[in-house]
Amino acid sequence: MNQYDAIVVGARCAGSPTGMLLARKGYRVLVVDRATFPSDTISTHLVHPPGVAALRRWGLLDRLLTSGCPPIDTYSFDFGPFTISGAPGHEEEPLSYGPRRTVLDHLLVNAASYAGVEVREGFSVDEVIVEDGRVTGIRGHGEGGRNVTEHARIVVGADGRNSLVARAVKPDQYHEKPQLMSGYYTYWSGLPMDGRFETYIRPDRAFAAWPTNDDLTLVVGGWPYTEFEANKRDIEGNYLKMMELVPSFADRLSSATREARIVGTAVPNFFREPYGPGWALVGDAGYNKDFITAQGIHDAFRDAELCAEALDATFSEARTFEAAMAHYQSTRDQQVLPMYEFTTQLATLEPPPPELQQLLGAVHGNQQAMDAFARVSAGVTSPAEFFSEENVGRIFATAS
Ligand SMILES: Cc1cc2nc3c(=O)[nH]c(=O)nc-3n(C[C@H](O)[C@H](O)[C@H](O)COP(=O)(O)OP(=O)(O)OC[C@H]3O[C@@H](n4cnc5c(N)ncnc54)[C@H](O)[C@@H]3O)c2cc1C
Repeated sequence: MNQYDAIVVGARCAGSPTGMLLARKGYRVLVVDRATFPSDTISTHLVHPPGVAALRRWGLLDRLLTSGCPPIDTYSFDFGPFTISGAPGHEEEPLSYGPRRTVLDHLLVNAASYAGVEVREGFSVDEVIVEDGRVTGIRGHGEGGRNVTEHARIVVGADGRNSLVARAVKPDQYHEKPQLMSGYYTYWSGLPMDGRFETYIRPDRAFAAWPTNDDLTLVVGGWPYTEFEANKRDIEGNYLKMMELVPSFADRLSSATREARIVGTAVPNFFREPYGPGWALVGDAGYNKDFITAQGIHDAFRDAELCAEALDATFSEARTFEAAMAHYQSTRDQQVLPMYEFTTQLATLEPPPPELQQLLGAVHGNQQAMDAFARVSAGVTSPAEFFSEENVGRIFATAS
């Protein structure tokens, strides 16, 4: 009955790599998405060094570079009284990139297709088929409207935070937190960044800018979710007023040209149990967090690798489904939990507690510590390691 080993719903950062990695191992894979590609989605797109490393491992980095996307070698965090500026990566993977999702997602879809995945664009999944408590397939329709049913040994939900697959299988949700910040962004020409990702942190506000394709610069900023309703009546006015909190940046912006409309959103924070009988979840479908630390793309890449490995172990009967997928879940959770706490703390946009302010003051001017802080925000070093007693003691000792 199974025409496919795996059906993957969603073809962006989580879905296409999951399909590609399974197809490269010789499995029959169908990836479907209601979108067609290239297409945009509401998301900014800073890809930190761990995401760049995944693209390199998969042999896709050169394709990204041919899009002309400029590299980013410096992250700066302007807290008002001082700025911390450091390198986001290590020697072996020093750079970040900010590719447009039209570029990145298209490249991933093409790579999946090249690996042998059957990719169906413009195909909406309407229903997940469950038989005797086990997911066995999907029902959906293409652009012509004809209903189609497909079966597989596993259905992978890579269908984003509002995942239809998750709604159908109702996994446990844990570590839940509500929306904390509303963020809005647009693109500017005439705002050179010289390879820098710049962040400005002010009371109840934070914004950031970095270069992307086509000589454009993305500028994203946000306010607490408590202001969501009041500010949505004048998003543009509030967006520009936020930049005026930093006159030197507002000056640079005044000689730039806005090239697109302002878009944005606010997202909830949660983990979902990422597997069950006949199904798995990857990317935002399984773990979603505020975008203030821009972790979602490389998190999706990591899930794709871990999940594809676990499914391979199951299909090849090297491990039971339960053992392989439990390993996927525990590895994911262990790796991301400290960053999740750090991210959701930052997303409140509350002033850093006094101990953190002292620590940041001691980091400022110590290049080794500033690089280490940049690597934390890039998801290269775990906040657990950076904020460990031993490391904090070292930073204060150097400062005194
Ligand atoms: C405002 C904002 C800014 C962000 N900025 C960054 C950033 O700078 N860096 C970063 O790393 N991350 C960022 N993120 C997070 C990032 O966008 C996500 O983590 C990432 O897109 C997750 O990829 P995904 O493949 O899991 O899901 P998605 O990118 O959401 O893709 C899901 C796909 O599933 C398809 N789909 C859904 N339902 C169906 C269905 N029923 N049938 C068929 N297809 C379906 C959709 O069409 C879509 O293409 C940001 C997010 C937001 C909201």
